[in-house]
Amino acid sequence: MKKIISLLLIAALLLSFCACSKPKKSAQQNKELTIVSTIFPTYDYIRAITKDVESVKNIMLLAPGNESHSYEPSVSDIARIKSADLFLYIGGESDEWVDGVLETTGSENAIALSSLVKTLEESKKGILTEEKEEETKESAEPEFDEHIWSSLRNSQTIIKALCDKLCETDPDNANDYKVNTEEYCKKLNALDTQFKQFFDSKKNKTIVLADRNPFRYFAEDYSLNIVAAFSGCSSNSEISLGVQNALIKAVKGNKLSTVYVLENNNGVYADAICKQTGAKKAVLNSCHNISQDLFDRGATYYELMAENLQTLKDTMK
Ligand SMILES: [Zn+2]
Repeated sequence: MKKIISLLLIAALLLSFCACSKPKKSAQQNKELTIVSTIFPTYDYIRAITKDVESVKNIMLLAPGNESHSYEPSVSDIARIKSADLFLYIGGESDEWVDGVLETTGSENAIALSSLVKTLEESKKGILTEEKEEETKESAEPEFDEHIWSSLRNSQTIIKALCDKLCETDPDNANDYKVNTEEYCKKLNALDTQFKQFFDSKKNKTIVLADRNPFRYFAEDYSLNIVAAFSGCSSNSEISLGVQNALIKAVKGNKLSTVYVLENNNGVYADAICKQTGAKKAVLNSCHNISQDLFDRGATYYELMAENLQTLKDTMK
C-alpha cells in the first residue's frame, strides 16, 4: 500500500513538472473555483454553500457507492488535488494518505475539517468487539473519532467556517455564499432541534447497531447510549458468536423493538439477532458516502439525516 502511494506520488510529481509552466490557478484569473473534497459530507457542504454559483467546480474524490475506508487516491485524483483552489479532507484515520500527497502538492490550499471542530477521542464504550491494536503503530497517541459529520452541530460549524474561507477566496460571490450558508444551516439547526425533542421524549436512549458505530458525535449531542459490534472505522465485518450474543442481550435487556445496521450492510447478522429477539431491522445512514442513484438524484446530507430521524421515529418505540 505504501509502495503504491509512493509510485502515485512520483507520478504526480512528474505530472506537476509537466504543468509547471502554467500559472497557478486563481479565482480572480479565470473566474473558476475548483474545490476538491475527499468524501460525501464535505462535498455536500460545498454544494450547499455554492448553490447557484456557476463558477464553482465541486469535486468528490470518493466515487458514489464506494467504501470510504479503503479509498486510495489514483494518479488523476492527486493531479486534481494539486490543481484545486481548495482541498478539503477530514484528517482522521482514513486520511492517512493525505500527508504524503500534501508533501508534493503543498498544503496551503488544504483544510482538515477536523481542525474546525472539537474532536472526541475514539471511544470503546458500547463497542463489543475488541480490536487488536496495530503493532506497527509508532505513536501511542489516542486517535480521534473521524466521523465529525455525524453531528448536525459540527456540520453547521464546519459549513460556516468553509463559507468564511470561500468569501475570502472569492469575494465576488461572497454574498451568495453567505445567503446559502444561512439557509442550509437553518435547515440543519431545525433538524437538530427535532432530533433533540425526539430523544428527550425517550426514557431509554439505547440504540443497538449490528454494525460499526460511526455515530460518536451524534450520540454525544443527544446523550445516547449506543451498543455496537465494531468501532467506527473498523475493517472488521464478521460478528463473532460472543458479540452476537451480547447484542441479543442488549436488545432483550433494554426491551428494544429494533436492531439497526448501516446502509450497504447485507444484514445477515441483524437478521439472526432479530430472529432470536423478535426485533425488526432498520437502516441508518452513516453519510460517509451515498449510492450512485442517490448521488445522481442530488440527494443531500440533510436528506439522509432527516431520513434517519424518520426511521428512528418509526422504529424506536
Ligand atoms: Zn468511518
